[in-house]
Amino acid sequence: MTVRELAQLVTAGGRQAEDLRSDADSVRRETLGDDVHLRGIIEFSNHCRCTCCYCGVRRDNGNLTRYRMSPSEIVEAADLVASLGVGTVVLQSGEDPWWTAERLAGVIERIKARTRLAVTLSVGEREEWEYRLWRQAGADRYLLRHETSDPELYARLHPGASLDSRLRCLDTLAELGYQIGAGCIIGLPGQTPESLARDLLLLRRLNVHMAGMGPLVPHPQTPLAAMPVGPAEVTLNMLALTRLLVPDVMLPATTALETVMEGGRLAGLRAGANVIMPNLTPRRYARLYEIYPGKKAPTIEIAEEVDRALKVIQAARRGVGVGPGHSPRAALAVA
Ligand code: SAH
Repeated sequence: MTVRELAQLVTAGGRQAEDLRSDADSVRRETLGDDVHLRGIIEFSNHCRCTCCYCGVRRDNGNLTRYRMSPSEIVEAADLVASLGVGTVVLQSGEDPWWTAERLAGVIERIKARTRLAVTLSVGEREEWEYRLWRQAGADRYLLRHETSDPELYARLHPGASLDSRLRCLDTLAELGYQIGAGCIIGLPGQTPESLARDLLLLRRLNVHMAGMGPLVPHPQTPLAAMPVGPAEVTLNMLALTRLLVPDVMLPATTALETVMEGGRLAGLRAGANVIMPNLTPRRYARLYEIYPGKKAPTIEIAEEVDRALKVIQAARRGVGVGPGHSPRAALAVA
């Protein structure tokens, strides 16, 4: 399929969009079955050295109270994730140098010794030896969205960083045997349907195990404050096309989609998604991890957060995944 043909599908509406999403739903069912996997996110630090133009925890946001959970707080929060029956913990943070590779490796080891949780990391760009250390400590997966496949747009939105270096990190992570996840933001300034089509082709080329994508939710303390929210309909098409291009991908219906569209997660599950990521950050910190405004999670309790995810799964008439919910390709990667 050409970029132009794919771009046309990215912005499909009406009957064509419906068909696309139901095709994706069928491929999801045939490839992975009806289970929806839960991934509990712990946002353990909002300190960040980066200045990503869309992100509310960017270094230059002086209006944000910064926090950093202690290693023991994270281990306890992970215990809670396990006790709620969630099989994966996602440890996410800003790019925070206080968190040396050794410190984070210690936390991963402790979680692995106490629980049967799969551990996913989402802490940005690091050196190869650091990724290796975390893998040796037991980390299973790594989320590092490519954000946009357009190198010029990438450079404009990420001062001092490059798409090249992001992609090198993803290659390194794959070589180290991580299940890798990339993905993009939908609705960035200057982003075209062709550019989104290239995002999809990149996901296929990287042969990702996971893909995270959601609409831009503009944050008032960032350079993108005046942008409109990213389009929910295009996001649903992007989920569907990701499922069609990478049939066995683990694909979350994101909270960002729910933020811009009531019932967004349910719609995502019906358009190819098979993962929900409830926010299980201790409540006193969750409201401070403000990558975008209006994150709903922090106002409700952690158990309630899992409950709501379960209700969405029930509404979709699907089952809840038991265990770590690895990519079906993970066993091959390890062997
Ligand atoms: N520091 C880590 C985690 C970043 S937060 C890293 O670099 O990977 C996780 C994701 O949230 C980002 O990759 C980005 O795609 C998304 N994000 C950040 N700000 C956003 C916003 N305002 N709207 C929508 N998505 C956003």
